[in-house]
Amino acid sequence: MLYLDNSSTTPVYPEVLEAMLPYFLKEFGNPSSKYYSLAENSKNAVEHAREQLGKFLNCSSTELYFTSGATESNNWILKSVSSSLPDHQVITTVTEHSSNLEIAKYLNEQLNIHVEYLSVDQFGRINFSELESLLKKRPTSLVSIIWGNNELGSLNDIQRASELVAQYGALFHTDATHVVGKMRINLSELTNVHFLSASAHKFNGPKGIGIAYVQKDEDGIPRKLTPLIHGGGQEQGIRGGTLAVPLIVGMGKAAEMHQAALSKNIKKLEKLEEYLVQLLTRKFGSNIRFNSDQTNKIPGIVNVQFIGINNEVLVKQLAPVMAVSTGSACSSSKPSHVLQAIGLTLDEVRSSIRFSLSTKIDLDDLNIFLEL
Ligand code: PMP
Repeated sequence: MLYLDNSSTTPVYPEVLEAMLPYFLKEFGNPSSKYYSLAENSKNAVEHAREQLGKFLNCSSTELYFTSGATESNNWILKSVSSSLPDHQVITTVTEHSSNLEIAKYLNEQLNIHVEYLSVDQFGRINFSELESLLKKRPTSLVSIIWGNNELGSLNDIQRASELVAQYGALFHTDATHVVGKMRINLSELTNVHFLSASAHKFNGPKGIGIAYVQKDEDGIPRKLTPLIHGGGQEQGIRGGTLAVPLIVGMGKAAEMHQAALSKNIKKLEKLEEYLVQLLTRKFGSNIRFNSDQTNKIPGIVNVQFIGINNEVLVKQLAPVMAVSTGSACSSSKPSHVLQAIGLTLDEVRSSIRFSLSTKIDLDDLNIFLEL
């Protein structure tokens, strides 16, 4: 079976598993315990992983906090930042992941915080004049804009958006879940990006672990977010809970491996994507329509309409030979809000499929499309 659903999740690299294993069995100490070697070894492993991630994202390791994944990071950042200024608005976009949209809805409905949603163009990118006019209208605590869309692959210009937001004195967050491992990220250059979310399982790390990047303030002092999870003093006192050492070690190793192979991986994904587009065009001609842009995107994500065919039926029929999806796994029971936001009709949404590629396949593997 050909796995083409890498935006839903990716397999753990064998080297990542190997790095994790000792921390289940031999090195099982609690990193918050003190003095004895089992505890110190765990603590050192956690800090080594934090360093690996800091190098990968080009930020200080002390700006990274371990969470259970991007869902938690999104919830935490949106809730903490907006609650500190409840009379200010929050601006997000209509194409965010459900973990962003649902917390935004909660903020509005339960905490009475004003929330605005930016619309998007035909490929899912925000419009800067709309952003600016919203910023002019009301004081804003936080703007949250997804970096690379999980269904279409289209990229938002995060540098430009964060610079614009900074002119209005608001903080800026981006959900970078699908960009990490697919593009070089240099947070030290993105000085107006204050927060970022990511999940390890999207870049061949384990599930259930992620990061929240929380930039230090202008004086180099860690920003004190209100915890989402209250507990012991872990993670500089702002995210409680015993650290998931094996998962953290795995995420660090996955980051290191992706950093080393990034340029090669990007080239390969671009090549695979180009070939897939060619094959689909050759095979299905005018019976298909591409929803994703061909440029300025995350390599390896292709979203296609199979005109007149129900996508659920198609995904089910393809299941014995290939794994693909109709969109985000987290909202798979509903028609995609992202595709509706770019202007597709419900019929068009219901005939669309997302292919998401990985570097572990070759061009030849894609020839399966010729045999369908
Ligand atoms: N943001 C985006 C864009 C995602 O695609 C996902 C996962 N599909 C998440 C956040 C949440 O990640 P997790 O489920 O690992 O918490």
